[in-house]
Amino acid sequence: MTRPAVVVVGAGPAGLFAAERLAAAGAAVTVYDRMPSPARKLLLAGRGGLNLTHSEPRRAFLDRYPSLPPAVAEALDGFPPDALRAWAEGLGEPTFVGTSGRVFPRAFKASPLVRAWLARLTGLSVGLVMRHRLVGIAPGPLLRFDGPEGRVEVRCDAALLALGGASWPRMGSDGGWTTLLKGEGVAVAPLRPANMGVEIAWTADFAGRFAGQPLKAVTIALGDRIVRGEAMITAEGLEGGAIYTLSAAIREALATAGGARLVVDLKPDLPLDAVAARLAGARPKDSLSAVLKKRLGLAPQAVALLRETEGGSLPREPLALAGRIKAARLVVPGVRPLDRAISTAGGVRFDALGKGFELAAMPGVFVAGEMLDWEAPTGGYLLQATFATAAAASACIAARLGLPMAGDPVPAW
Ligand SMILES: Cc1cc2nc3c(=O)[nH]c(=O)nc-3n(C[C@H](O)[C@H](O)[C@H](O)COP(=O)(O)OP(=O)(O)OC[C@H]3O[C@@H](n4cnc5c(N)ncnc54)[C@H](O)[C@@H]3O)c2cc1C
Repeated sequence: MTRPAVVVVGAGPAGLFAAERLAAAGAAVTVYDRMPSPARKLLLAGRGGLNLTHSEPRRAFLDRYPSLPPAVAEALDGFPPDALRAWAEGLGEPTFVGTSGRVFPRAFKASPLVRAWLARLTGLSVGLVMRHRLVGIAPGPLLRFDGPEGRVEVRCDAALLALGGASWPRMGSDGGWTTLLKGEGVAVAPLRPANMGVEIAWTADFAGRFAGQPLKAVTIALGDRIVRGEAMITAEGLEGGAIYTLSAAIREALATAGGARLVVDLKPDLPLDAVAARLAGARPKDSLSAVLKKRLGLAPQAVALLRETEGGSLPREPLALAGRIKAARLVVPGVRPLDRAISTAGGVRFDALGKGFELAAMPGVFVAGEMLDWEAPTGGYLLQATFATAAAASACIAARLGLPMAGDPVPAW
């Protein structure tokens, strides 16, 4: 009996995971990618330790996704964090829970996992065809690629597109697929930066002295959203976990109000009057910088940031100064471009999908991973949803092709 042929386009985590599942279910799977080698962005993510997922309970986990689409919530329930951890362990990479509940592979990088994964795919007879860029899709499905030897046409029983977003295009996902799919009548929400840096008009002196320095253990508020964490000063503004978590709210404020006003609390664990009391105990002959360092332990970059904030020169009176420390105001006129962001918001809209993860406009063509219209902060939420949507889409393809999919017992969260 001939095995049904599945073509996966995109050799990132979504594509490779779907390929693994479908090959294990009995499909003849070939993965195409425009780059010379697979999983480039995953390997890049590995440079930061490869934060695979997060260990927090289900409700808290799901709440991290701004406007979580129901299909992604369902996919996460079908393939929750413990399933991803078990998968990594099966590839010889047991995971551990690091600071703030984030989950990492033991090697704290992606390369051993990717090596073991590619060996498993070879064992499952998954074909990998690199340097082939998807340039067209016709009913069938019939896929057209431009490769080193020219145009190639491939017919299959089902296709999965896992083409990623448009951040770090050098890693392969350049968002070029948006034109292709829109041309075929697929609704695509505009691709926008997520988990991106923000721009702030620092003085040249501040940017020159403090770019690369962190603001540790601060809270950053935008309207009524308050995020605790760390931010990194850059020549252009700020980036880092606390800023990334506010991505969607910052984009929204820029779109509706033309600018976002961030309020940084440099001493979030001390109430205003306690900060003022510490300042009041300072020796009058000490400079302001010395007082802020000695009495509050503020790092030089935090002190300098205070001087950069809206409001100009700093008051010496303790309560007024405490007020500035608890609410240092920064104006964000814009965000850093998509190509430097960690991830992408926007993508194939969920109302463009029929049942499951299949494109309504293109029967037999399914979609998974970051190219779908969901977003998430850093913390492992991106890869978890990438794998979960790939698991869900591959289950839909298997059902369509009449392939038995073993289906893991779903671990409880
Ligand atoms: C610096 C950085 C650090 C990150 N760290 C983390 C982290 O620690 N934890 C986390 O959860 N997430 C992290 N991410 C995000 C995570 O890497 C992505 O969300 C994830 O890789 C998305 O997987 P994907 O398979 O959907 O897309 P991708 O990994 O982008 O793969 C898409 C593939 O499709 C191919 N492709 C695109 N267009 C075409 C075409 N027309 N024809 C053929 N092939 C095509 C590309 O070459 C690429 O190989 C990080 C991202 C970056 C940039």
